[in-house]
Amino acid sequence: MKKPILAGSIIIVAIIIGVSAIFAQNNDDVHIDNIESSDSDSEKIIITTTTNVITDLVENIGGDNVSVTGLMGSGVDPHLYRPSASDVKKLQSADIVFYNGLDLEGKMGDIFVKIGREGTAVWAVSENIPPESLLSLDTDGHFDPHIWWDVELWMEAAKVVATGLKEHDPENSEKYEKNLSEYLIQLESLNSINLKKIDSISQEQRVLVTAHDAFQYFGHSYGFEELAIQGWSTDSEAGIREIQNLADEISKRKIKALFVETSISPATIEALKAAVQDKGHDVVIGGELFSDAIGEKGTTEGTYVGAFTHNIDTIVKALK
Ligand SMILES: [Zn+2]
Repeated sequence: MKKPILAGSIIIVAIIIGVSAIFAQNNDDVHIDNIESSDSDSEKIIITTTTNVITDLVENIGGDNVSVTGLMGSGVDPHLYRPSASDVKKLQSADIVFYNGLDLEGKMGDIFVKIGREGTAVWAVSENIPPESLLSLDTDGHFDPHIWWDVELWMEAAKVVATGLKEHDPENSEKYEKNLSEYLIQLESLNSINLKKIDSISQEQRVLVTAHDAFQYFGHSYGFEELAIQGWSTDSEAGIREIQNLADEISKRKIKALFVETSISPATIEALKAAVQDKGHDVVIGGELFSDAIGEKGTTEGTYVGAFTHNIDTIVKALK
């Protein structure tokens, strides 16, 4: 009984090999293309990031050597974001993970510690910023996480990304150093160009009224006061009393405009506008600012530089 089965198996195997050979011959071009593309993909460093601000940063420093998957796209609020099972897989299967830290990704819990223990290289881009450059939120050692709207602090984040890439891929260190120094030059010029634009806003109007406190670092470096309905995180309800108190202040100080954020519902800012108008001051909504997310990939505002420029232009137009 055994022999015929074996013989049959040999015949089947022979047929499979024959068919495969014919198939391979007929599809030679396709076959070679597939091998080439999977080869070049496997050479790239697989990186998973959280917010799209960080995705843009890593792509600038990593260039062609990296394949970056960002968990959060434009319009996504990182304070409230809970990772799905597929997000966890993307974090676990990455060569390197870059996240913001300082509790920005507040609902992601200990996941970064966990995957770090499992062997993935995990970097918080905020980790090199000295405590004296961070803004305190309380006396318990919590700091404001919105570091990216201070260009100089974002330059420190860029250096952390370069260090992470060099550590993982020392052979290409020179390339990452070159990308870093080119990007730092770009950020320096972004800073100096935009600082000049602000000159057209009077001192009394240098106030940013937004839904949540995402612009403290921006205010600190550009000389704006920030008045927000919610605190540093969106993870709290905005009360009627807060809105009324803020409306009083805006109407007394005759602040010209309020700003909506792209990653937060405009409802609270619209309620504030109505409350100010009830007090007889004709405040307007000055436009949309990118706060915790930058724009859609492939658009000008889908880069940090483009989003920063959009914010400054929107603020200057509304408050000058
Ligand atoms: Zn925020």
